[in-house]
Amino acid sequence: KTTIDWEAIRSQFPVLQREVNGHPVVYLDNGASSQMPQRVIDRINAYHSNEHSNVHRGIHTLSQQATDAFELARKKVKELINARYNEEIIYTTGTTDSINLVAQSYGRKHFSEGDEIILSEMEHHANIVPWQMIAEETGAKIKVIPMTESGELMMDEYHKLLSERTKMVAVVHVSNALGTINPVEEIIEAAHAKDIPVLIDGAQAVPHAKVDVQKLNADFYAFSAHKMCGPTGFGILYGKKELLEEMPPYRGGGDMIDKVTFEKTTWNDLPHKFEAGTPPIAAGVGFAETIDFLNEVGMENISTREHELLEYATAKLNEIEGLKIIGTAENKASVISFLLEGIHPADAGTILDQRGIAVRTGHHCAQPIMDHFEIPGTARASISFYNNEEDIDRLADGIKYVQEFF
Ligand code: PMP
Repeated sequence: KTTIDWEAIRSQFPVLQREVNGHPVVYLDNGASSQMPQRVIDRINAYHSNEHSNVHRGIHTLSQQATDAFELARKKVKELINARYNEEIIYTTGTTDSINLVAQSYGRKHFSEGDEIILSEMEHHANIVPWQMIAEETGAKIKVIPMTESGELMMDEYHKLLSERTKMVAVVHVSNALGTINPVEEIIEAAHAKDIPVLIDGAQAVPHAKVDVQKLNADFYAFSAHKMCGPTGFGILYGKKELLEEMPPYRGGGDMIDKVTFEKTTWNDLPHKFEAGTPPIAAGVGFAETIDFLNEVGMENISTREHELLEYATAKLNEIEGLKIIGTAENKASVISFLLEGIHPADAGTILDQRGIAVRTGHHCAQPIMDHFEIPGTARASISFYNNEEDIDRLADGIKYVQEFF
């Protein structure tokens, strides 16, 4: 239990105050994208109204102020995830972009014929396809850690897959489709024992718990602002400085150079080496405000509240006959994927939407998980700290209505 006034926090989110199809919205699609509190929206508006200019270039006051506001996000992200240096925080457009950066830059330099990249069966496509693309180019192969029926990684199999041929391990911290929280400490430690670097896809972890990249000892860690009450178009790649320094740039252009001639170009220092072109400035400025907001609520309080709601929702949905939860790991985040006997998830989602209830349906960009369970997809309720028990009750009532409807 926390002593926070959660209803007061909920009231800061304007989208949660609206109606959808004549009903107060029940927003349970936080895994896809979360809502922004008013203060983040205001901060972005203020930037556009008063402060906009390009960054890192101008000698003039507006450009310097925009640079300061934009760079503030780097410092706040560094503190949020406890990185050692600001230069270890690379701005990207999101988790997908962050993983592509590592695959294209680190992978192109280090992978060759016969090398192996270890992924898991529960990866989001964003942590599969970039590795397949670089594997195809370099001759490396993908190896997959299998999972159990409850949606937990078979760690014995993982340990067996690690070998001298392994050049990268890339695993999701929290599964977006199942909610499983993976034992990433053990995964990283075992890989490091063989000098193998590890990338963690933290898109669903950083929004919901305190993540400490030094404690985890992750080599790369990727996440997106829009899944943690921040704006779209902005994300982070954390990388250990030693690794980032020896990696070549991924994209060329302005801002990432030191000196350009037609004969040769030299690279700018970290983090700018990986940040070609004009970045999403307004989104970065907004994200700095988001981190202040999250810190004020407290990441530990957020975890506790979401866990409470997960338990409430799991108990409530388990009471419904004909409903099956997919993903029953012991260590689970606030995601509930479910199936209704005899009803296609898309049909369930459509009927729920008519009652103002937003859930995601389909394969959740994790088709191998659906193949594992031999299902076309699921309906997924992903819960945030700003949801409440009433949202869960309305979901449960909505599901019963869907069952009566069909
Ligand atoms: N990995 C996971 C686990 C995710 O949940 C998502 C978003 N659904 C991504 C990666 C991709 O994030 P983005 O679309 O913000 O790049």
